[in-house]
Amino acid sequence: MKTLKDLEVKNKRVLVRVDYNVPIKDGVVQDATRVDASLPTIDTLLDEGAAVILMSHLGRPKGGPEDKYRLAPVVEVLAALLQRDVRYVRDNPGSPEAAEALSDLKPGEVALLENVRFEPGEEKNDPELARRLAALGDAFVLDAFGSAHRAHASVSGVAALLPHAAGFLMEKEVRALGRLLESPERPYVVIVGGAKVSDKIKVIENLLPRVDKLLIGGGMAYTFVKARGGRIGESIHEDDQLDLARRLMEEFAGKIELPTDVVAADRFAEDADTKVVPIDEIPDGWQGLDIGPATRERYAAALQDAKTVFWNGPMGVFEFEKFAGGTNAVAAAVAGLEGAYTVIGGGDSVSAINRSGQADRVSHISTGGGASLELLEGQALPGVEAMK
Ligand code: AMP
Repeated sequence: MKTLKDLEVKNKRVLVRVDYNVPIKDGVVQDATRVDASLPTIDTLLDEGAAVILMSHLGRPKGGPEDKYRLAPVVEVLAALLQRDVRYVRDNPGSPEAAEALSDLKPGEVALLENVRFEPGEEKNDPELARRLAALGDAFVLDAFGSAHRAHASVSGVAALLPHAAGFLMEKEVRALGRLLESPERPYVVIVGGAKVSDKIKVIENLLPRVDKLLIGGGMAYTFVKARGGRIGESIHEDDQLDLARRLMEEFAGKIELPTDVVAADRFAEDADTKVVPIDEIPDGWQGLDIGPATRERYAAALQDAKTVFWNGPMGVFEFEKFAGGTNAVAAAVAGLEGAYTVIGGGDSVSAINRSGQADRVSHISTGGGASLELLEGQALPGVEAMK
């Protein structure tokens, strides 16, 4: 990838694609991790004498302006973190009004364009939109790792039209995740959880030959248990993935570990009645909503001598405090490893580690859930390719 040191930016207007797709509630940014992660690139460009024009998407607007998807709440957070004024351009990013609003932006100044998904051409990678966006700048920097798996106008479209480079966050993410694929120090242990096997199957298949152990948790465990003939009651599972689960368990018998006990609930609710049962013997009418205490201990022990760890996806329905114990235990076990290279990707596992207060004890926390998984699936990311 081309990086910032390859790009001439002095007295240039540099268009920077960032990922400010942050959680917002009642007009207030709930987690500014992604804004914070964009600062090194912005500060460097400003120090080197560029005018910085930032663009991002937020949420999933339906191809036009929607107030709840405006980037206004991000402006305050960004200005506070940068300790500078940020010019907020409320017009659609590809409009003549936006171009006009930026016409007097000077070196050392920062502007933020409105949500780029208000432009119907963004997700279609419309060449006309890419051309109008590219006309706003003299050079382009991609620092939106969380969007690097999207071939959208503001990601790969603009890159094709301007001198370009990857920003520091892109560089850091690609290097950190690349280490998991290239030459991980062993033992290498991967923990996957989350709702469905089908969502993560490609990454599981790509990683299984490379890892020493794959610890499975969350809703996806029940498809594997059903596939080997266990009784899973009403637990979430995917019947169309049973054959695949069976095949993986045969082919990688020594590597795949499944929970042995679960916290079962008599219904899917915060105040359900619960009991700990073996995962193969969940009574009819009950469902497994978290890994049990014996599994937590076994997984922590399996992590103990690991030298490389990747974790994606919760071990249970962690949104309910009652079923968050397994996810919290894995967070603590990963954070507690000394001398291991530990990487966490995906929104839910990242919020679990943040809540645990131990995020600073993890080697790398990825800002991109989907992008990190696609990279580990072995796929070429359009954003990364565009920076080559
Ligand atoms: P993902 O986005 O695929 O990582 O899945 C995260 C979701 O999986 C969370 O919303 C969890 O509540 C859900 N989940 C985890 N374990 C279970 C389970 N045992 N039953 C139902 N849903 C689960």
